[in-house]
Amino acid sequence: MPHLESIGVGEGVRRLAGGLAELLWPTRCAGCDAPGTLLCERCRSRVVVIDQAWACPHCGAPFGSLVCTECTDCLVADDPDAPRAGTLGHLAELDAVCCYGVHAWPLDEAIRAYKDAGERRLAPLLAEMLASALGATRAFDPSRADAIAFVPATPGAFARRGFDHMEPVARALSGLLGIPVRDALARRDARDQRGLSRAGRLENAHGATIPVDDMPGARVLLVDDVLTTGATLSQAARALRLSGALQVFGACVSRAW
Ligand SMILES: [Zn+2]
Ligand SMILES: [Zn+2]
Repeated sequence: MPHLESIGVGEGVRRLAGGLAELLWPTRCAGCDAPGTLLCERCRSRVVVIDQAWACPHCGAPFGSLVCTECTDCLVADDPDAPRAGTLGHLAELDAVCCYGVHAWPLDEAIRAYKDAGERRLAPLLAEMLASALGATRAFDPSRADAIAFVPATPGAFARRGFDHMEPVARALSGLLGIPVRDALARRDARDQRGLSRAGRLENAHGATIPVDDMPGARVLLVDDVLTTGATLSQAARALRLSGALQVFGACVSRAW
């Protein structure tokens, strides 16, 4: 270890603090629990990365560039007798969507470790994944976006985790893309039902996303961690449109079914 005077006292203290933190909370791979890295090279190479050349521009699923089996549901969403009608119908609120990888091991574990096991240092890695998908997507041109918004956590999840999990990812992505973050959305507290209509109460019960900022004419890059049915992303996109956004592009770290 170099003498403190040669590296500066401030840097020395930082290294000591880092060493102590490493002793108390050792860095472990989210995929295989091996020590030393947040996601080891071996696990990282096992992530099923979606080839953007073949991905569905509507829902981000792999192999959907021509005919997407996931979006077949969406196309028949207006027919109430259609099987699974409306599953992805709400994604109509978005202009296009891209997703980085398939929601399977070890990507699912990395997201879980970040959100629910307190490994917040994974935020820059998740942002890198989003940037990678955005750099390759053919669904839209991310450089046209003039703001990044993130899907806010429900009040319950916020209280449990102690942070709004997509905010650090959005801020890290902002640093990579040079696009500012707008803290434009909030989730209603489902417990606070005062002053709402019956329809409002029903929506509120599901932790509806509401706009808290005006974004007239904005082209917004909306980020979230996992896209499954698209309902959450769509609610957030609708709220952005209510705030005046002209276009909403979705980008999610992983795509689940
Ligand atoms: Zn590993
Ligand atoms: Zn699709």
